[in-house]
Amino acid sequence: MKCIYCLEDKPQLFFSKVEHVIPQSFGVFRNNFTLVHMVCDDCNQYFGDNLDIALARDSFEGGLRFLHKVKDPKKFRSSGKKSRLIIKVDQGEMKGTYVYREFSKDQGRILIKPLPQVGFLKKASDIRNYFLLKDIPDKTFLEENGYDLTTSDAIRIFAEDYDSAMQLLSSKGIKFRTNGVFEPKGTPELSWMCKVEGVIDTTILRTAAKIAFNYLAYWNNTAFMLHPSFDITRRFIRGGEKPDYPIAGVSPKTILGSEPEERKRAVGHIITVNWAADKESIVAQVSLFNCFSYVVCLAKEFKGEHRNIRKGHFFSPHNQMIFELGAKER
Ligand SMILES: [Zn+2]
Repeated sequence: MKCIYCLEDKPQLFFSKVEHVIPQSFGVFRNNFTLVHMVCDDCNQYFGDNLDIALARDSFEGGLRFLHKVKDPKKFRSSGKKSRLIIKVDQGEMKGTYVYREFSKDQGRILIKPLPQVGFLKKASDIRNYFLLKDIPDKTFLEENGYDLTTSDAIRIFAEDYDSAMQLLSSKGIKFRTNGVFEPKGTPELSWMCKVEGVIDTTILRTAAKIAFNYLAYWNNTAFMLHPSFDITRRFIRGGEKPDYPIAGVSPKTILGSEPEERKRAVGHIITVNWAADKESIVAQVSLFNCFSYVVCLAKEFKGEHRNIRKGHFFSPHNQMIFELGAKER
């Protein structure tokens, strides 16, 4: 048997695991799409440990699993300070602070907690800008940019170790008198309006590409998937090797034609695959929770059989159903 990712010939014994088209962390579906005897156990394990985990635990869509109840908040694991996501509070007196998500055992839900940081107030205003401890500028920069370094409550510190934060400030030439400890009103929680900035790096793009490749494999056989025209994509997904053309990217466009660009959209995952307009490349779109979509070039200048590969499905995490999409003729 030959694995569609590493292309190694192995006995069936090494194909004991089932590869899920959509990682199980994003929902389990009735009549789920799985690949049997196509992906070897080594590749399956590698994907679980390196790609699926990154998408689940440390991506914007990964966070949406809790909102859409695909995942129990108790199972939330914070990537804490080294997360791909930068989350800032966007309302109230904590506006501008950097936070991370953490599950609170006492309250049984995910709360946000401030990262270690210092906020400086702009003179004669109520604008406070926050800097993570590692990014605190020196005194001259702050003075030149109109920050108030003298008024006692102009500087706000969030740190687990208050004394070393004070020492750090002092090493930057910033010395001030404190006016007690700042206590934000209420428990910071995820329902506060937050601004999320995420880094969509190669690992996340490879995971999206794997979902697309799995999907194509589900509807076609191993022989079709083994065509050398897919080798570049295999190497990108399995080994992170980037070709000289954009193999995967992000589009803010919705996949479903009827969906609004903003506001509420149907909640579910969508995958589509088809020939590109040039009829030479195979292109897929993947959207988790129907927010933005990943566009993946599964093969460029495909030299194999030009069969009908057009497919599209909607995966509903709420009722575990998978629906085939009807497409309008172009
Ligand atoms: Zn393999």
